[in-house]
Amino acid sequence: MYDVIIVGGGPAGLLTSYYLAKQGFKTVVYEEHMEIGKPVHCAGILGSKAVSLLPINIEQAMISRIFKLKISTPHFSHVYNLRTPLNVVDREVLDKLLAKKAQKAGAEIITGARVTSLRDRREHIEVFINSRKLSGARSEKGKVVVGADGAVSAIRRIYFKSCIPLEYGVQAVISNQTTSTIELIFGLEAASFAWIAPSPEGIKIGLIARSKPVEKLKKLLNIKFHGYEVSRYEAGIIPRFPPRKIVRDKVVLVGDAAGQIKPISRGGILPLSIASQIASSSITTYLLTGKPRNLKSYESQFNKTYKLERLIGQYLRCILETLPEEAYDIILLNAIRYKVDPFVERRFNVDSQARFIVRLMISRFGIETVLKLIRMIKNKPTALTVMKECFKYL
Ligand SMILES: Cc1cc2nc3c(=O)[nH]c(=O)nc-3n(C[C@H](O)[C@H](O)[C@H](O)COP(=O)(O)OP(=O)(O)OC[C@H]3O[C@@H](n4cnc5c(N)ncnc54)[C@H](O)[C@@H]3O)c2cc1C
Repeated sequence: MYDVIIVGGGPAGLLTSYYLAKQGFKTVVYEEHMEIGKPVHCAGILGSKAVSLLPINIEQAMISRIFKLKISTPHFSHVYNLRTPLNVVDREVLDKLLAKKAQKAGAEIITGARVTSLRDRREHIEVFINSRKLSGARSEKGKVVVGADGAVSAIRRIYFKSCIPLEYGVQAVISNQTTSTIELIFGLEAASFAWIAPSPEGIKIGLIARSKPVEKLKKLLNIKFHGYEVSRYEAGIIPRFPPRKIVRDKVVLVGDAAGQIKPISRGGILPLSIASQIASSSITTYLLTGKPRNLKSYESQFNKTYKLERLIGQYLRCILETLPEEAYDIILLNAIRYKVDPFVERRFNVDSQARFIVRLMISRFGIETVLKLIRMIKNKPTALTVMKECFKYL
């Protein structure tokens, strides 16, 4: 019997397996794909806090450190020179480094193995696995199961009976191009935002949308990179809101499966790095004491650490989504007019985005801009629908 069975070999599962194996627990990770790190569905943009929490030599995965942030709206652009760089990493390399680290600590990683179901057998959880490598279907017993199986988590659906709203992230890779900036594009028709960033082969241009993401990306490509050849498309699913519960009996959820993302940028690496540390420490105490409340403490501890950023972020995202396209032009023009450059350049923080925006909003620029925007929200029914959804998942 395993102490811990982890479903999913993405960063959440690999980090959790590393921390638990390091404590000496018998840990296994089942990953449905044949290779860790593939397929990639990430731009690899990380803040300094996320980088500092990863227990690997990040230089081996680093593509570049970017000091220039370009903000674009439908009709305007402005470049900010950041003091603290944004790190762009190769996600495939990052995941492979995490896997190596976990294996070195003693975790077993079995690829090409899909977990299909699980049952609570009182003393343990029985996990059912389908694997070509392990000659078909079989089951394993675990004292604790970690669902780290991504945004469309089967563990969340089967065991927590929880269904959360999702959205899409798509990106196109254009080879042999370089960029020394990260560009964030706002005010796109019905898409939350888009980005252009360096990638291992060249650049990536991507966006997040709730519907027709590929159509929207192709439209954006036509505007920004007309005539360029796309060498590859990458796509992934992103949780919009977290489920109500992330611990049930002996099963816990971590990472995208637990909806642990930064609400504004949808970046998942920072919150899942925090969550995997807290989850593994709660699992450790539970395995040593046998007291269920120790496992349960993961949920409250994670909320305590991340709830404020999540709640403020969710509100801000809902508000941003209700704004018409021209509102983004007004925000950027006001930012230029009120010369917020020194503040942005010093304080821009991709790790605590909600806090950064709130601090910006309580300046003269913020107050003037908010008053202007309130007058602009013409489409009140849409604004109301989006706000209702936001309240439902708080
Ligand atoms: C287009 C895009 C760009 C992004 N850019 C960024 C970014 O720049 N910065 C950032 O911080 N975040 C970014 N994210 C978010 C980030 O990629 C995720 O938050 C992160 O990958 C979540 O890690 P995870 O381990 O929870 O889930 P995943 O990375 O999704 O890993 C889950 C793993 O579980 C496996 N699995 C699923 N079901 C089963 C099963 N039944 N049995 C066995 N294995 C299973 C999957 O194959 C997968 O390998 C981006 C997301 C998208 C879609």
